[in-house]
Amino acid sequence: MKLGIIGGGQLGRMLALAAYPLGVRSTVLEPAADPSAAQVCGHIPGEYEDYQALYRLAREADAVTYEFENVPVGAARWLAERVPVYPPPRALEVSQDRLTEKAYFRARGIPTPPFAVVDTEDDFAAAVREIGLPAVLKTRRFGYDGKGQAVLRDPASAAAAWEALGGRPLIYEGFVRFDRELSTVAARGRDGDVVFYPLVENEHRDGMLYRTLAPAPGVSPELRRQAEDYARRVLDDLEYVGVLAIEWFEQGGRLLANEMAPRVHNSGHWTLDAAVTSQFENHVRAVLGLPLGSPAAVGHAVMFNLIGTHPPFADILSLPAAKLHWYGKSPRPRRKIGHVNLRADTAGERDDLVRQWADRFDTSSNAECGMRNAE
Ligand code: AMP
Repeated sequence: MKLGIIGGGQLGRMLALAAYPLGVRSTVLEPAADPSAAQVCGHIPGEYEDYQALYRLAREADAVTYEFENVPVGAARWLAERVPVYPPPRALEVSQDRLTEKAYFRARGIPTPPFAVVDTEDDFAAAVREIGLPAVLKTRRFGYDGKGQAVLRDPASAAAAWEALGGRPLIYEGFVRFDRELSTVAARGRDGDVVFYPLVENEHRDGMLYRTLAPAPGVSPELRRQAEDYARRVLDDLEYVGVLAIEWFEQGGRLLANEMAPRVHNSGHWTLDAAVTSQFENHVRAVLGLPLGSPAAVGHAVMFNLIGTHPPFADILSLPAAKLHWYGKSPRPRRKIGHVNLRADTAGERDDLVRQWADRFDTSSNAECGMRNAE
C-alpha cells in the first residue's frame, strides 16, 4: 500500500518510519529542500497549494494524510475528491482558527477557558473589562509553540501586548491557574472503532512542550472518563479518521480544553517506546483502513524534547534506558530537533529516570518560563 503525506517535518518522518514495517511506502509533499521526512521516504517537492504536485501525490497514494494543521483547506478538499484524505478536511477547518476551535468545543459541551474575539481596540478594551487580568492574547491563526501570543499580567503588559499583536484577528483568553496540563491522544478507524492512549501529563516551558509523563500520575477514573467522553464527542462528530490530540488544563478535578491537533502529536511521542502500538502506527493503520492496535502503555515513560541544541548523542545514550529519536534537522534556537524516551517498569523507577535526566542535561530553569503558573 502507498501513503501520501502533506508536510515533510519530523511528524511525517515518524509516520513514514512506522509505515515501513507494515509494507507501506510513503511519499511526502514538501516545498523545503531535504526535509526531515524525505531522508526516509519519497519526496515530491512542491508547495501545499501546487495542484500539479498534489495531483502527483494523489496518483501515487492509496490514501493521503497530513502532518500539520495549516494545510490549506481548499487543497485538502480538492484532493479529497480524487483520493481518500484523512483526517477529514473539516477537522483542519476547525483547528486552524483558535476562535472556531474554542466555539466548536463549547457547542459540544466541552468546557474551555473564558474567551472573547478581539478584532479592534474597542473589542480589546471590552475583553479586558469582562474577562479581566491576567489573560493570554493569541493570534487566531498560525500560532504554535507559544508563537503569536503574550501573557497579560497588568494594565502595562496589556498595553504592550496590544502594541505587539493588535491589528490581526485575535482571541483573548482568561489566564487559567491550572493544576497541570494533560493531553489525550486517541485514534479512530475508518470503521468508527476508537482507541484512547492513557492521559499524559505535559510540562511546557516558554510555550513549548518540554516533557511528557506517560501515563500521567494520579489520574482518577472520573478524570479519565471525562477526557474520553469529551474526545469521543469530537471524534464522532467529525467522523474523524486518524490520530487526534486534545490538550487540557486540569483545574480542581475538571478539564478545560485548550486546543486540538488533527494529527499525531508531540505528547504522543512516548508511544514509540512505551505503548503496544505507537500513535504513528495507529495513524497509518486508521488512514489506510486497517484495524487499530492496542494503545496500552507498557510500563511508565518520560519523553524529553531536544529543543534548539542537544547534548552529545553519546552522553544521552550512556543512560541505558534512553531511546533517542533524532529528526535529521540542523540545530536552531526554539527548533524541535529530536526527543528522548525513557521507559521503566514502575512509576517510581520512571521518576528516578526523570531525576537522572534533570541532573545531567537540564540546564534551563522553570523560573525563565513566561507561561508557568508560578505567580
Ligand atoms: P497554546 O499554543 O495555546 O497551546 O499555548 C502554549 C502554552 O501556553 C500552553 O500549553 C500553556 O502552558 C500556556 N497557555 C496557553 N493558554 C493559556 C491560558 N489561557 N491560561 C494559562 N496558560 C495558557
